[in-house]
This record gives sequence, C-alpha cells and structure tokens, in this order.
Amino acid sequence: MSEPLLEVEHLKKYYPIEKVWLGGSSKQFVKAVDDVSFSVRKGETFGLVGESGCGKSTTGRSLLRLIEPTEGRVVFDGQDIMSLSPEELRRKRKDMQIVFQDPFSSLDPRHTVQRILEEPLIVHGVGSRKDRQQMIRQLIDVVGLSQSHLHRYPHQFSGGQRQRIGIARALSLKPKLIIADEPVSALDVSIQSQVVNLLQDLQEEFGLTYIFIAHDLSVVKHICDRVAVMYLGRIVEIAEKNKLFSSPQHPYTQALLSAVPQPDPDIKAERIILQGEVPSPANAPIGCAFHTRCPKVMDICRTNRPELVETEDGHQTACLLYSKEPPAGNAV
Ligand code: SF4
Repeated sequence: MSEPLLEVEHLKKYYPIEKVWLGGSSKQFVKAVDDVSFSVRKGETFGLVGESGCGKSTTGRSLLRLIEPTEGRVVFDGQDIMSLSPEELRRKRKDMQIVFQDPFSSLDPRHTVQRILEEPLIVHGVGSRKDRQQMIRQLIDVVGLSQSHLHRYPHQFSGGQRQRIGIARALSLKPKLIIADEPVSALDVSIQSQVVNLLQDLQEEFGLTYIFIAHDLSVVKHICDRVAVMYLGRIVEIAEKNKLFSSPQHPYTQALLSAVPQPDPDIKAERIILQGEVPSPANAPIGCAFHTRCPKVMDICRTNRPELVETEDGHQTACLLYSKEPPAGNAV
C-alpha cells in the first residue's frame, strides 16, 4: 500500500447566513462541508460521490484553498497547506491542479489554446519561450489533439475536445495531484469514456494521483480505486471500490447503488426509493443527518450523531447500526 499524498482532517466550510424575522435576526451557518477527514494515497484515484449539493465540489475546492476553508488541516506531500502564505500557496498549486466540470466556462474564450496552455507556465516562470512552445506541443499531443488546434479558440471545439484542453492545462505544470471536479458530467455519454480513458492513460504515464468528484456511479466504478460517499456535507462511508459496490454498509450508499442500472438483465436488483427531500444544509437534522430519509432509522438516530468508524479493514462507515454497541430493539 503506497503512502498518503494528501491527508485531510476535520475539514469544514461554513457559510454564514443571517435569518431575519419580525423584531430581530440571528446568524446561522450553511454547513457545506462539515468535519470531513480522509487520506489519498500516491498514485490512486479517490472518488468523492454524492447527490448534487452534498458538498463534494466544495470539499475539492477547499483542498486547494480556491475556497478558503473555515477549519481543518490539509497536509499535501508532507506540507500543511493551511499554514501557507498566499505566495507559498501559489507555488504549491503547481503540484495540485484542478479540472473543472464545464470545459467551456473554464477556458478563456478570448485566448487561443496556445495562450491558454502557456499561461500557467508563464505564471510559474517555467522555461524560456522556446522551451514553453516545445512543452505545449508535447502536451497537445499527449491529450490527443493536433498542433493545428493550438491556434484555435475554445468555441471552435467540441465539449470533449475542450475538456482535453482543460486536462492539458492541468497537466502543464506536471502536478502530483489532479482534482477532477465532475470532469465528464457535461459531456455526451459517447465522449465520456474517451475522456475517462485519457485520464487513466495519463495517470499511468505520469504517475498522477486523482481525486475524482462525480455523481455518476458507473463512471466512479470504472475509474476509482477507493470511494468516499458524502451526504449533507459529511462523509458517510469510505471503502475500496469493489467492497463499496459489492457490500455497501451505509443505508444511503445502499440506496444510491440500488439506482445504478445493471448491465446484466438477469440480475434483478431491488431499487431502494428514499422518501422525502435532502434537508437544507442550513438546517441539517439533529443526530444522524440522514435520519429523515433512512429506511433503517432507529430512535437513537434522531439524537446521536454517528462518527465515521472502521467497520472492517479499510472500510469506514458513519452509521449507528455499526457502532460497537448497537442499540437493539428500538427500530421505529
Ligand atoms: Fe440510518 Fe440511523 Fe444509520 Fe443514520 S445512523 S444511517 S438514521 S440507521
């Protein structure tokens, strides 16, 4: 098992909101990321999954301090990211890059691909102009585009090609870690597999480590080594991919996986339909945040908040069904 490249401890991102009523107001917080801890090993692809609004993208951006976290510790390659000055952080970002979901809005429409790819190299003072031209030609080859594409503008490309440009830009500084934030969600299904295969090839070639943020569990199953499932700003389960997909423990993970289409028509999987809406992160339920929708809810779930604990080797779950002394006989 390789050593960790990234260690995240008790990461929080709270957004203050003011509630106003007749004669007064109070300050509350939207807890977009609420006490999240995990580690990512060198060379692995670590998936962060969950429904829209669960906090997975905010987590990804907080790791790079593109969004300033409220609290927590992020250690990348042995260095505490949270303690870095703005200049130190700028230099560190060379090793930690991001690929955004929407390749169109993440590329400057006024610039040619050549300029888009050269910009990070200039900002980080990499090479002479001639060296940079050489690097850019190599990059564009690596992501499967041609030299002639360098002089075109983002709007002249398809969605898949634009995402290849976004990947080339992320690769330009030879990072150790790439956070891929829903990198294929905006693409046609036929193009998704090309981009996913490209990411896998690049990982092998350059020894990259990925955090792959997604809501499409089929893609996650294909590309990830380990997966963390998020619900209302918290991680509810972490496991090796095969363990998670074959024997999910948390009732939320079980419901999510039951909705994944089975390629084999002979396998009859029972779909778990969750009742109710995802509660607002500004007003998360007390106790287990999932208790308002959980098919296995017990009385204690309404008051006690489960912590993420190791239930089997490498498998962590935040559910009172797996606590050391399960409260028996109080199912409601
Ligand atoms: Fe369901 Fe209770 Fe487990 Fe939460 S702690 S997931 S409500 S069984």
